Parts: sequence; structure tokens; C-alpha cells
Amino acid sequence: MNTFDINKLLRNNIRQLSPYQSARRIGGQGQVWLNANEFPYPRSYQWQQNTLHRYPKPQSELLINAYANYANIKPDQLIVTRGADEAIDLLIKAFCDPNQDSVIYCPPTYGMYEICAKTYGVKCKSIATLANWQLDLSAIEQQLDSVKLVFVCRPNNPTGNTVEAITIKHLLEITKQKALVVVDEAYIEFTPTQTLTTWLNSYPNLVILRTLSKAFALAGLRCGFAIANSAVIDVLTKISAPYALPTPVIDIAVEALSSAAIKIMQQQVKQINELKQQFADQLNALSCVQQVYPSDGNYLLVRFNTESNIFKQLWQQGIILRDQHQQLGLENCIRITIGTGDECATVIQALKQLAKE
Ligand SMILES: *Cc1c(COP(=O)(O)O)cnc(C)c1O
Repeated sequence: MNTFDINKLLRNNIRQLSPYQSARRIGGQGQVWLNANEFPYPRSYQWQQNTLHRYPKPQSELLINAYANYANIKPDQLIVTRGADEAIDLLIKAFCDPNQDSVIYCPPTYGMYEICAKTYGVKCKSIATLANWQLDLSAIEQQLDSVKLVFVCRPNNPTGNTVEAITIKHLLEITKQKALVVVDEAYIEFTPTQTLTTWLNSYPNLVILRTLSKAFALAGLRCGFAIANSAVIDVLTKISAPYALPTPVIDIAVEALSSAAIKIMQQQVKQINELKQQFADQLNALSCVQQVYPSDGNYLLVRFNTESNIFKQLWQQGIILRDQHQQLGLENCIRITIGTGDECATVIQALKQLAKE
């Protein structure tokens, strides 16, 4: 037994891999959880079918049709996945040869593009965004050799900005015969007119990621989507697990996509957006705050003055936020999810208190 060394069996890239530091993995203890961009209120769902003795269909037409209808696309332009994270995984698995192909992502941004690529032994080209967090297109264009996927988070997590549509158009042009452009629209419900789904007909290399985890308040359900032209969708379908989606997940997702449930979601999104504005104003008025960045998501990126360790002090009080200091250019930055009005007020109170001490 003691001569058994698991590391001798492991692939090199997995031995070296540090796992994604998800909010739940980092942990914490307390009452105010504003670190995972979850929706602050639960909605209640009931799943209907008593058919758990049967395998589910690989892709439920009911769910496909419901989401296609919501997103205003054709059913053959859609695949359902276990969260948007599985869609990232499927794309890399399908299109990138290990040790040969690369992906591009543009920090500061969502961490899973890098970690997923590294898990498959796929090379990463990290191309920093410009000072205003727009894409550095000329740097991207110069580094497209061996690149199969370019990930753009839009609106961007954690900065909250939305890369200009014209930039994505140029990106789609320069990658046209070479790579897929994957636009991660996890937060699109908070800025719905920015969606690029209407571009699918013009760009065969456009892929869009969606999820029920954020505005639909279903992070625990694990349901996401990839949207693209049918040629791409067929490839992802080919490699997806035989029975990827549990029957209760399909049932609840269909319920969440009824027109009544969509209306409720949209009303609550409006409230969150209003609260975000008030919260930003209140934060801006605090002496410890250097800058609150405009955000199109359900979160704010806040840069604090350098002196104090705000993140840790709030953490010790049971107010759990998301530290961003390790991200490129985000020194002293914390990402705060827009919670309930009470939760936002608690954060403001705690920050005022710290300033007094
Ligand atoms: C939350 C998030 C995801 C993951 O969504 P799931 O559907 O829960 O896997 C993907 N992309 C971004 C940018 C996110 O913030």
C-alpha cells in the first residue's frame, strides 16, 4: 500500500492543476453570502413526472423548445448542458487537440476557461484586455495560430463591463476560417438587449453560452445551454454524455421557462438592477471606496483604498464577498453580488463601521 503513488498514474497536466476556486470551495461562515452572483431569492418549483425508473432523453424536446422560444432561436441551434460550465468543457473537448491547440481568453475574466483548457492539456493564450477592459484585437489577431476557441465573457465577470458589439464583430471576422468565438452570456438577462443571438445567421463561428444559474435563480439546478449554428450543436451533441440531464432538472427547467415564470424573472431582474444603482451610489459615498465600476451584471466590482484589508474584515463578520486581488489589474478589488436590500444595507453598515475604527 505505502509504495502506491497516485502521482505516477496521473497525467502531468492534472498533477500541476490547481482547481477552480469556486465560491463554495472557498467556503466561509456567516449570514450574508454575496460571493457567487447567485440570485438572492429562491423561487419555488415542483417537478412533475414520476418516471425516475427510466433514463431521461439525451435532449428533452420540451426543454429545447421552451428555451429556443425564450431565446428567440431555432431548436436546432441549441444544446442543454449541466450548467454553462459543461458547455465550456464540451467545446474544449470537441475542438482542441491536447498539446497542440490553444484557447484565448482575456483577463481579468471568468476563471473556468483557463482551468478547463488546462484539464485537457490544451494550451492557454491569456491576452490582457486594454485599460478600459475592452479586447486587444490586434494582440488577438497576432496570436491566432493554433487557436480553436476565443472566450469572451459578455457582460464580463468580474468587471461588469460589456465588450462593444463592434469589437465582437471584428473578432468574428478575423477568426472566421480559424476559430470559434464563444460569447459567455451568463448575465445577459441583466442587460438583455446586448445579446448576440441575432448574429447567428451571419456568423457560423459564433457560439453563445447561457445559464439558468443567475437571473433564473437556479444555480443549484445545474442547467445551462450552448447556442450556435446546427453544425456546431451537432458536434457537441455527439460528445455529450448519454443521459446528461436528470429528469427533475429537465422538469424544473421547463417550468422556469413558462411565460409566467419568465415574467417574474424579468420583474425581479429589474428590481436587482435598481438596487444595484442605489448600492453603487451608497458605496461611492464611502471614504474607503476608491471606485465602483459600472456593471451590466448582478454584481459590482469595487476598488477600495489600499490601507485596510476590507475583504478579510468583512469575512470575519460573516459577510462573504469575492476577493479579486489575484486577478490581473484588480488590486484591492472586491466583487459584490447584489443581494436583497437588507444584505446590501448590511454591507454598507459594516463598511461605515470599519471606517470609524
Ligand atoms: C456563473 C458563471 C458561469 C457558470 O454557470 P453555470 O451554468 O452555473 O455552470 C459561466 N460563466 C460565467 C461568466 C459565470 O459567471
